[in-house]
Amino acid sequence: MAEETENGSTPAYCTLVSVPQRSFGPEIGSRRAGMIAITMKKWVNGTKLKYYFFNGPTDGSPSNWNGSAAQENTVRKAFEKWMSLGIGIVFEETTDKNEAQIRIGFQKGDGAWSYVGRDIIDFAGSPDERTMNFGWDISNDLDTALHEIGHTLGAAHEHQNPFAGIVWDEQAVYDALAKPPNRWSRQTTFENIIQKLAPNNVEGSDHDPNSIMHYPFGAGLILAPAPFKNGIFPKGGLSEKDITFVKKFYPALQANDYTVLKVSESANLGIKAGEQKNFTFKPTRSRKYNIETFGTMDTVMVLYEKTSGEDVYLAGDDDSGTDANSKITLRLIKGREYIIRVRLFYADSEGGGSIMVY
Ligand SMILES: [Zn+2]
Repeated sequence: MAEETENGSTPAYCTLVSVPQRSFGPEIGSRRAGMIAITMKKWVNGTKLKYYFFNGPTDGSPSNWNGSAAQENTVRKAFEKWMSLGIGIVFEETTDKNEAQIRIGFQKGDGAWSYVGRDIIDFAGSPDERTMNFGWDISNDLDTALHEIGHTLGAAHEHQNPFAGIVWDEQAVYDALAKPPNRWSRQTTFENIIQKLAPNNVEGSDHDPNSIMHYPFGAGLILAPAPFKNGIFPKGGLSEKDITFVKKFYPALQANDYTVLKVSESANLGIKAGEQKNFTFKPTRSRKYNIETFGTMDTVMVLYEKTSGEDVYLAGDDDSGTDANSKITLRLIKGREYIIRVRLFYADSEGGGSIMVY
């Protein structure tokens, strides 16, 4: 999240990759838009994300994307740390950049950065693009690796939480960040520090100054509240709230978390905003099937085929912010087993909605 400095000056900070903001029409109320915004960048729970370290120039990437073994090991440890909490997301290293969703470079001087959650596939789809970079030596800096992976899981910057009530000395912040090691433009400083997230787009209403997603700030940058005037120094590592966040969106999946779907029999979703329900389906005939959700709600639905190895992604549909419902139409094969995961963004009446295969 931030490079250690010895003299108390502003450390090097992480920057988020700027992507176009999603906008909603006037027919989408602010509450619904907010509920969509909280969930839309998160992964469907149960997703396996593969990560890759560039080893330029042998893989065609610039040689300065290559990291030392010690730096790569720090990142591996950070992935393991998140997984060790017992979550439904699996991180696995791959040596094939083509099958990696997370592609990591170590370009010195380019800062530490990541895309947020699903943006890594929506905005960095090429196997030659980085989705994460470490711009200083992180051989002994597990926290920076934990922080960037937090973004990849869909977490925003905690110091931009509007419930923190931080009043910045804005000019002091712009001036401090314009200097080395950051050398940030006004826009970058605005987007990564000054700008507050919309209250509707933030999970809960607590500010967590110890979050791994919070930058440390020295004295002289914050005008109020009084306890932060002398700076904010997160204690390091994952906080209680970080752990609560990741387990809420990505709880460990057990065998009994799956409901069996039968052809033409509707099954209740019965989940709240942000929650997910998982189903299995075994066709008794090979043919084209529709898998569709019913009810006034926004969902994302993902279909996998279960194999003896890893589950194979077949299709996904995200109907958020539209009047349509999630629907997948695909030929499914007799005797094979399929997994369907449905995450609810928003529903007019919570706990309603259903799903059917027909
Ligand atoms: Zn960050």
